[in-house]
This record gives sequence, structure tokens and C-alpha cells, in this order.
Amino acid sequence: MYDLVIIGAGPAGLTAGLYAGRFRLTTLILEKLTVGGRILLTETIENFPGFYKGISSWQLIQQMEKQVKDLAVEFRIEEVRYIDCNKKILKTDKATYTAKALIIATGARAKRLNVEGEEKFIGKGVSYCAICDAPLYKEKEVVIVGGGDAVAEEALYLARFAKSVKIIHRREQLRASQILKERLKENKKIDFILNSIVTEIIGQDKVKAVRIRNKDTEKQEVIACEAVFIYIGYEPETALIKGQIKLDEADFIITDEKMQTSQEGVFACGDCCKKDLYQVITACAEGAIAANSAYKYITQKK
Ligand code: NAP
Repeated sequence: MYDLVIIGAGPAGLTAGLYAGRFRLTTLILEKLTVGGRILLTETIENFPGFYKGISSWQLIQQMEKQVKDLAVEFRIEEVRYIDCNKKILKTDKATYTAKALIIATGARAKRLNVEGEEKFIGKGVSYCAICDAPLYKEKEVVIVGGGDAVAEEALYLARFAKSVKIIHRREQLRASQILKERLKENKKIDFILNSIVTEIIGQDKVKAVRIRNKDTEKQEVIACEAVFIYIGYEPETALIKGQIKLDEADFIITDEKMQTSQEGVFACGDCCKKDLYQVITACAEGAIAANSAYKYITQKK
């Protein structure tokens, strides 16, 4: 039995691991894919304090991982398939684990547009990761869908490769932060198609165009492009705990200020939680708080 099992090795889970290791809790971090999580879909983190001019997300994660590994925290790349929050039992594709406390740091995954052609062309022009796929579209015309910070950052990244980048957004204004909107406007390769929604992704073997509909005029138009990048937000990875702990209407985990969930001894942090500000810095802060709360819970129970 471990003192603590942390599910997810993004910035939240890694920071929880760092604090748990320093508390000398016997700790296991389980990650289904690669250490780092969704942060690795971004090239540079510009707003993590202490890194003047930013730091690459790879470097930041590598440093975090080294800090945790130095503390004898165990890592395993295994996919969690079952969680009993009450008994604190977990089953992965390889083994069963029990713990005195759990920290859920499972993050979130990209939301789908759910339009015709989307599923069919994933990997053939439809992408949810500009950092991974932008180099494939050097000097090509691409579109990117959404209106938040992610769309703004990724459009700027795409513009370093593509011939042109059209941002398609369903409102008149992007909700991205002002500094990013200013950079978008200054970039000659970037255009906006506003008040419009994508209704279909068109192609044969690969993407050739998108069909859009203007929300005011109802006019439809076909925009030629070789890739469609979709950045319309995220949904939490909370299916395994649904029905066991309290979630909000969009399935984000509800915690208190100690990152305690509705189930005693189960804490949560990072993008899987309901909150106002989804940032690396807030994920890390929550990871630290969750580990501190888990430490108190475990030691007070002894
Ligand atoms: P977001 O802020 O939730 O924005 C999602 C965008 O997609 C919104 O503009 C939304 O439109 C649009 N959208 C949602 N569903 C749609 C649909 N079905 N069809 C068309 N458009 C749709 O998501 P995000 O940009 O991925 O960012 C997630 C969080 O991470 C945010 O809190 C963000 O601030 C943070 N983040 C921060 C940074 C940074 O600080 N540098 C970078 C990336 C992400 P509406 O506007 O109409 O709702």
C-alpha cells in the first residue's frame, strides 16, 4: 500500500509529487501517456513567473520531473481503468494499487466540434495540436477554430509555418487576452472569419476545405484549406470518478480551498477541477495544496 497515489503527471500531478516526496510520503504517480500532459501541446510558456522571456514547455516539464524523481517518488506509465474512491483502490492495465489517499490530476482533453468530416479526417488535416502538426503545413493555407487564449497562441505558432491562417470564431470578438489579440492583429498572415461556425469539413483522402455558416446572414461559404486546427476548449478527464465524487454540470471536479473533493481522502488539482483560471501556475499551486492536504489527512489518520 502506498501513502499516496497521484493520477496524472502534468504540472499539477508533478507538483503534488514534489511536495509529497518532500513530506516523505510513499508516493506513486500513474500516467497513461507521457509525463507532462497537455502543457506539451504548447511550445513556450511565457507567463510562468521567474522565466524572463518564457521557457519551453519541454524544459519546464523536464525540470519538474527531475525534481520529483530525486525524491524517490515512483513513476509508472500505466492507464488507470478503475478507481474506487471510497476504498482508494485503483486498477490499471497492469496492476492493482491501494493507497491511504488519492490525488486526481487527470487534466482535460480537447473538445470536438462534432461536425461531419471531423472524425474522418483526424490525422489527415484535422488536428488538435498545432505544436505537433504545424510543420506539416509549411506554406499551406490552414484554418483554426475557436476564440480563446489557446486559439490565439496556436494561430501565432501556425503562422510561423503556414502561408495563411484564418481564425474562424462563432462570435464578433475573441475572448483571448488582450496581449495575444494585439499580436494576432499585427501578424500579416493571420485573418479572422467572425460570427461564423464550421458546419462541415470537406475532402476526399485529406482535408480540402471547410464549410462555414455566418450566424447573422445564414450565408454559407466554402473556405479552401489543407488543415483545420480545433481549439474550442477542453473537457475534464473525470469519467472514472463520475458518480463517486461531486462534479459540476460539465463534469469538472468540485473541490474546496484545500483541494479536498466530496470524498474524504481524495484530493484533486489542475485542469480536471472547476475553477476560474486554467494556467500552469494555478495547476502547480493546486498540486502543492493537494499534497499538503493529503499529508495532513494521512498523518492525522495514523
Ligand atoms: P476557452 O477559453 O474555453 O475558449 C474556447 C473557445 O472556443 C471560446 O472562444 C468558445 O467560444 C469556442 N467554442 C467552444 N465551443 C465551441 C463550439 N462547439 N464551436 C465553436 N466554438 C466553440 O478555451 P482555451 O482557449 O482552450 O483555453 C482553456 C483555458 O486555458 C482558458 O482558461 C485559457 O485562459 C487557458 N489558457 C491560457 C493560455 C495563456 O495564458 N497563455 C494559453 C492557453 C490556454 P465562446 O467565446 O463563444 O464561448
